[in-house]
Amino acid sequence: MSQLTLALHTVQAQLAEATRLSGRDAGAVQLLAVSKTFPAAAVREVYAAGQRAFGENYVQELQAKAAELADLAITWHFIGPLQSNKTRIVAETAHWVHSIERLKIAERLSAQRPAHLPPLNVCVQVNVSGEDSKSGCAPADAPALLRAVAALPQLQLRGLMCIPEPTPDAATLAARFAVLRQLQAQMADEGLALDTLSMGMSSDMAAAIAAGSTMVRVGTAIFGARHYPA
Ligand SMILES: *Cc1c(COP(=O)(O)O)cnc(C)c1O
Repeated sequence: MSQLTLALHTVQAQLAEATRLSGRDAGAVQLLAVSKTFPAAAVREVYAAGQRAFGENYVQELQAKAAELADLAITWHFIGPLQSNKTRIVAETAHWVHSIERLKIAERLSAQRPAHLPPLNVCVQVNVSGEDSKSGCAPADAPALLRAVAALPQLQLRGLMCIPEPTPDAATLAARFAVLRQLQAQMADEGLALDTLSMGMSSDMAAAIAAGSTMVRVGTAIFGARHYPA
């Protein structure tokens, strides 16, 4: 068995165990394999081992890999920062976008989503760590943004995403994840159902699952350490 297949199986087992320990139903948490910086051949190998959902952070890289792997039934998730001049490629290529942090980007994605494709699944990214992190909308601004995004015709609002600051403190981490859970409950009270909490990465997957994650985004634990060009 290849190293990538072995790593995928290990992460699948850890995910299943964390789900069980949290008293949640088997299958309640989906695995998104984050393939940024890794070649299409590695994605093909992980796909062959059964993984279908892959996440990318950079628009050009998403575009190149989606083209190279067009023969596979991959669900592509865009999870990186998105500039307005790059929205068209994402609207045409991705099935999901996790990183909506302002309405203008959502409006462009909706307008640019090709009519022959189903609506683009989106999550609003929330800055749960305050000053320590720059990405995501403030929790206080999330309800209005969520309501506006929900009204856009070519988008399907699915939920919320966060990237807490790295911390060794379990209580702090739990509090960060709880912000998304509270927002989800608040929106449900308003009648806006959100079925996805995109939270948890290689280092905090189990904590995120305990806090109610429905989708963990795992890169390093599957593909290994990333090497960025200098
Ligand atoms: C890179 C990245 C991940 C994966 O991180 P790992 O620590 O490698 O598992 C998850 N989410 C986002 C938004 C990322 O940019």
